[in-house]
Amino acid sequence: MPTPWIPVPILMYHAVEDATRPPRYKHFYVLAAEFAEQMRMLQRAGYTPITFAALAAARAGARVLPARPVLLTFDDGYANLQTNVHPLLLSLGFPYTVFLVSDCVGRTNGWVTAEGYEATPLLGWDDIGRMQAEGGVDFQAHTATHPHLADLGAAEARREMADGRDALEQRLRTPITTLCYPYGSRSETVEGMAGEIGFTQAVTTEFGRVRAADPPLRLPRISVYHVPPLSLTYGIGPLNFRWRLESRKDTRP
Ligand SMILES: [Zn+2]
Repeated sequence: MPTPWIPVPILMYHAVEDATRPPRYKHFYVLAAEFAEQMRMLQRAGYTPITFAALAAARAGARVLPARPVLLTFDDGYANLQTNVHPLLLSLGFPYTVFLVSDCVGRTNGWVTAEGYEATPLLGWDDIGRMQAEGGVDFQAHTATHPHLADLGAAEARREMADGRDALEQRLRTPITTLCYPYGSRSETVEGMAGEIGFTQAVTTEFGRVRAADPPLRLPRISVYHVPPLSLTYGIGPLNFRWRLESRKDTRP
């Protein structure tokens, strides 16, 4: 008899910063101390971080998941992952995934400046190579230039996804099989093209845990962003994280 499926939370992080940023940057980061506390909480609560390969194997029935599985994902590849994420997760033995924008490696998240935000530095190829050599991290695709894929013509959307994947495979010499849609911008057409190009799993920004029946190119995630220790809107920071992790809320139809 098959074991019942355990809903799997995929946590979505962006930058992990040393210092608090102005309130309007809240969704762009968590603090390093906040992140470390969250990882300790996962450990205390008996969560086991797994990889996308393990998730795919479990969904195919080829592998049994741990009692409390979780995936840790970091969008865009911010330079501060090197100091504030990589050493900590290596020491805890927690695998994690970073989604890279291939044309922006070694530059900044310049796509935010159009909306009036200051740009933040991204990892360079040397940093990425060093982290890859140390292990624990799985670099995957987040397109070539971070566009809204659903707004592009078919040829351009396909090129963004394929070029982003090819550039990473050439540099990193490892199969790139998982895609993160920038801004969560996707459509049936975009999903279809992602599959044709060869992606086997893709993540969105829809809120929820992964269910057994979820299409593999439309996996929901749980966003994690900066919450002060005591916030009028979000309550007590650490409890807010716990609530999000265990939430049965689901924004999907
Ligand atoms: Zn992004």
